[in-house]
Amino acid sequence: MGRTVTLIPGDGIGPEIIDATVRILEAAGADLEWDRQLAGMAAIEKGLGPLPDETVRSIERNRLALKGPLTTPVGEGFRSINVALRKRFDLYANVRPARSLTTGGRYEDIDIVVIRENTEGLYVGVEHYIGMEQDPRAAAESVMIVTRYGAERIARYAFEYAARHGRKKVTVVHKANILKYTQGLFLDVSRDVAREYEGRVAFEDRIVDNTAMQLVLDPYQFDVIVTENMFGDILSDEVAGLIGGLGLAPGANIGVDSAIFEAVHGSAPDLAGQGLANPSAVILAGCLLLEHAGQPEAGERTLKALEASLRSEVRTRDLGGSASTEEFANQVTRKLG
Ligand code: NAD
Repeated sequence: MGRTVTLIPGDGIGPEIIDATVRILEAAGADLEWDRQLAGMAAIEKGLGPLPDETVRSIERNRLALKGPLTTPVGEGFRSINVALRKRFDLYANVRPARSLTTGGRYEDIDIVVIRENTEGLYVGVEHYIGMEQDPRAAAESVMIVTRYGAERIARYAFEYAARHGRKKVTVVHKANILKYTQGLFLDVSRDVAREYEGRVAFEDRIVDNTAMQLVLDPYQFDVIVTENMFGDILSDEVAGLIGGLGLAPGANIGVDSAIFEAVHGSAPDLAGQGLANPSAVILAGCLLLEHAGQPEAGERTLKALEASLRSEVRTRDLGGSASTEEFANQVTRKLG
């Protein structure tokens, strides 16, 4: 029996694109069992919380999940279900590969991986207002937290990833010129880790603002980028933009024990239920999951079929075509060969 994966169809377009992906992965020979679970609005509508215990227990059991986008309900006391999952399973590495899959865009042949620290930095959410005289919100403070432990494990993950995938260079992106303590620690620790990989993986460091510009001017100089939480959030969207937008961007959230794979985009309420969404990002997330689960052949087959489909006329509307989710998915299945 194959490896069991927690499957969270999610909200909005989630169920449509997840169902299409499951059909394609199975046709590609993926040896996986699906343990379907609820989260987000789909769970709330069934009278459960946004992240039911049963769903958390399923991920604890399977340590592997494929997740559709979740709509975080407003005013539920939750910052975000995605943040809650990251915290609960200590998913410290957010891996966002961006590779050109279509032609005719701004750039061809982009192949960059952004590895973002997922648990520290400014996004720890330690912030408060400071009241003065009559104004309770006269000032606001946020705390950026960088630990040696957190910086070291993300730097090591990036170098290991580069070594394992035959990548040549890791660029550490930071703002150590201004934030000398937090960003300085991140940079120093990355340099120490880089020394262990000398002769195998090259290392350079760049300041984040320069990186943002260089990515637009000459993206080909980048290979693997590793950076802290907020810079990674911003740069990974920029890099997705270089290859045609979020519709083609998968993300992996990796922890020591567990991993959750997903599309980077949200639940697209404007498209939900119409059968028009592009399933490519979730299909790509499925390919990453197969590699992680030790089934790279099925992942490679799926990737080739997806690439061939994206180069054909049968594309979804966001990519300038007129195909439905189902028509596009059927074409990917046909191209599995
Ligand atoms: P969104 O990504 O859902 O949509 C932005 C735009 O991109 C929309 O025009 C949408 O139609 C389009 N789009 C997104 N995915 C598409 C696809 N697969 N095919 C074709 N077009 C697609 O972002 P949003 O509107 O800001 O967020 C909607 C909801 O999703 C919010 O509740 C938000 O919290 C949630 N969200 C969830 C995740 C996640 O679960 N990982 C990520 C981002 C946003």
